[in-house]
Amino acid sequence: MRVLVLLGAPGAGKGTQAQVLARTLGIPHIATGDLFRAAVREGTTLGREVKEYMDRGELVPDGVTVGILLDRLSASDARDGAILDGFPRTRAQAEALDAELAGRGVGVDRALYIDVPSEDIVRRLSGRWICEAAGHVYNVASRPPRAAGRCDIDESALVQRDDDRAETVRARLGQQMGALGEVAAHYRATGALVMVDGGKPIAEVTEALLDVLRPAAERRVG
Ligand code: AMP
Repeated sequence: MRVLVLLGAPGAGKGTQAQVLARTLGIPHIATGDLFRAAVREGTTLGREVKEYMDRGELVPDGVTVGILLDRLSASDARDGAILDGFPRTRAQAEALDAELAGRGVGVDRALYIDVPSEDIVRRLSGRWICEAAGHVYNVASRPPRAAGRCDIDESALVQRDDDRAETVRARLGQQMGALGEVAAHYRATGALVMVDGGKPIAEVTEALLDVLRPAAERRVG
């Protein structure tokens, strides 16, 4: 089982990169934000519980978040591993994941930190649109859809997330950057942390990530 963690500010490109890595590596992309949004859409008890936190741009409490993630990680399609996107967001979540994986005799393989300056993040998020059906990500500036307002992949309508409005973006950044620093420190201590420059074009970031994941013997020299 190979578990990869993608770290970065909201809007750093984790979702976009995770979708490519999942296809390339043949393991599922698991995003706690997507799991929560699905629960809200379906109007489940969990959905009602988490909606208020999400609307305020706050983190959902660790107990709820760890529960939904470990549940998803136990599904059969994650037998060989998974790419985690948006989890862990706190040190407690990182420790809960470590404990679970230790029980299976593995650890987090790599924590890939996609690093983007915060002034770029606010600009990126206010231009972000996702498709209604599956959450495929577009951006008016850097990754426009072929047909305006429609997903290239499943043709569903593109919508802006409530929490991508400018004032919510600033609240999310303020609260989440501190916790992100703690999570990065956790993986620096375990030796899993790798920093990747997320300011480059999407394809170059993907290449840099795949390069990190290739076995050392296959990696380009110099
Ligand atoms: P995201 O799509 O990753 O930006 O997540 C959207 C929202 O879902 C966040 O602003 C949080 O309210 C909540 N959320 C997602 N993942 C987590 C997590 N690991 N811990 C706490 N809250 C989360």
